[in-house]
Amino acid sequence: MTATGSRPADEFSTLDPQDIDLAAHLWRNPTTRAGLQRDFALSRTALGSRLDRLFESGLVRESERAEQSGGRPARLLELDGNYGLVAAVDIGERHSQVVLCSLDPEIRARRAVDFQLDAGPGAILESIASTIEEMLAGFGPNPPRLTTVGLALPAPVDFIAGMVTGYSVLRGWDGFDIKSWFQQRMGVPVLVENDVNAMAVAEKAQNWPNAQSLFYVKVGTGIGSAIFTNGSLYHGAQGAAGDIGHIQLDGHGEPLCRCGNRGCVEALTAGWAIVRDLKGQGATDTDAIVQLANAGDPLVLGALREGGRLVGEAVAYATSLLNPEVIVIGGSVAAAGELMLSGVRQMVYDRVLPLATRRLHLVPARVGGDAAVLGAAQLAVAAWLEHESTSSTGSLSI
Ligand SMILES: [Zn+2]
Repeated sequence: MTATGSRPADEFSTLDPQDIDLAAHLWRNPTTRAGLQRDFALSRTALGSRLDRLFESGLVRESERAEQSGGRPARLLELDGNYGLVAAVDIGERHSQVVLCSLDPEIRARRAVDFQLDAGPGAILESIASTIEEMLAGFGPNPPRLTTVGLALPAPVDFIAGMVTGYSVLRGWDGFDIKSWFQQRMGVPVLVENDVNAMAVAEKAQNWPNAQSLFYVKVGTGIGSAIFTNGSLYHGAQGAAGDIGHIQLDGHGEPLCRCGNRGCVEALTAGWAIVRDLKGQGATDTDAIVQLANAGDPLVLGALREGGRLVGEAVAYATSLLNPEVIVIGGSVAAAGELMLSGVRQMVYDRVLPLATRRLHLVPARVGGDAAVLGAAQLAVAAWLEHESTSSTGSLSI
């Protein structure tokens, strides 16, 4: 826990949006004073007074790290992760994970909130908001300031409007103004994003920071994917880009999907489809699937091996279209050993032309179960800095 609570709550509003431009730049690329002078075409004196204000506010600090560029080493400047807290929420189908973290982001507190999905968005969001307040109160009488909130949802999301935009397991959320509701409730900027996009953001930031084109596939209860092109998330026109789970594959039977179509990748091999087929063997949910796989259950291992090839068929199409540098296979079902990954690998290398696979990294996700909250926190910090800076473009440079 940090001592940031001693600062007055309204201090952030005294910062100039131009100063926030510097802070936003440092958040993306920590650099030296000379680097900032160059990037912002500022005189030494002008930069000095802006930095003094940022140091005083606690938003920017000198890093322990230094940059060696010819002469003597110069200290890097960076955003101070302890300036305040971000609340990040991974909204699932039966419960949500709520975390409070620093701006870095480093998790400082966590709590699970159970709910019934049919309670509707208002009641579920209210239980999340009051949980965030209780968690802040747990920091004592002077809790660190809450700067922003990031919500990751299992649904296609228009992240600018902050709404669910189409079919998902979140029935009744379509068109509900989540962003405005939560901003009004919490009094801070709020970012709403699809959960697979959030997971991919965390994976990219931690393990592939310089990748320009990255394709992330999540195989959990459902199946989805996220696309980075030119280093940025690609959302598509309606926020539905990457909906790989509802690509229909021929020749594998036509089981009914949750979307109402038949033969979707999800209906063949998502966590819920494996549960449908192997419930009698004890595969009652994705946790049970992972446990049975680790225990060497032949039916579950067979389902994962076949599932890898089915997911791989869809991933092979995507690879031909996108020619990514990196494909990451994540999600709770994919985490059950190497079987799924090897199935994907087999299909991609069999079906895609060598030019697109020659330098391809096809790897398992490494961030783990906190990927969605960590990514949501990073996206929320980006949105908050954007909100407070001079250049509100509506797009996030993450
Ligand atoms: Zn479907």
